[in-house]
Amino acid sequence: MGPVGILALQGAYQQHADLLDRLGVEWCWVRSAQELAVCVALILPGGESTAMTHLLHTRGLFEPLRSFAQTHPIMGSCAGLILMGHTDDARVHSLDVLDIQVARNGYGRQLQSFQSGIDVELGQGMERFPAVFIRAPRIIRVGAAATVLARHNDHPVLVAQGRHLGMSFHPELTDDTRIHRCWLEGVSAGAMHTLSREACA
Ligand code: GLN
Repeated sequence: MGPVGILALQGAYQQHADLLDRLGVEWCWVRSAQELAVCVALILPGGESTAMTHLLHTRGLFEPLRSFAQTHPIMGSCAGLILMGHTDDARVHSLDVLDIQVARNGYGRQLQSFQSGIDVELGQGMERFPAVFIRAPRIIRVGAAATVLARHNDHPVLVAQGRHLGMSFHPELTDDTRIHRCWLEGVSAGAMHTLSREACA
């Protein structure tokens, strides 16, 4: 297997790398189409989805990444989730891999950031997970193609579609590796694997 790419244009990309190191997974930074081409999958970090959209275009990376996402697993946290889904902010361009609609900053501004235990379904029944929300996007619609794996106060916060996994919180800001591990199992299982409630059992 080749390396898992981590988009490193802007935002909290180092924390994903630290977590993959702890899992012993080979990874590389992605800042160009050439770097993306050798990756088996890609992580989109948290940060600012408008800035990331802008940088993806100026680096000539947006279209290559959109094509890559049709055939390779993507995991996105927070701003990464926004890029995977759809929002009505015209400054953010969608990679079109999650059938969801999100409201940017839908939980409020920086001061309303919070941590909360949520129940996640990673294939072995409900597990408690410490979720950190920072200017988080609120998922306001989930289409038929996507599966909700966790909710906070009835709102979906963790969504899978095929081998893609997106979340409105930041698992990389905790030392809990379970969500990354679940996604990585889909990465190594190959093309037919689909993340679902049973996937990581
Ligand atoms: N509010 C940011 C955005 O809209 C996302 C925040 C984050 O990634 N922590 O892009």
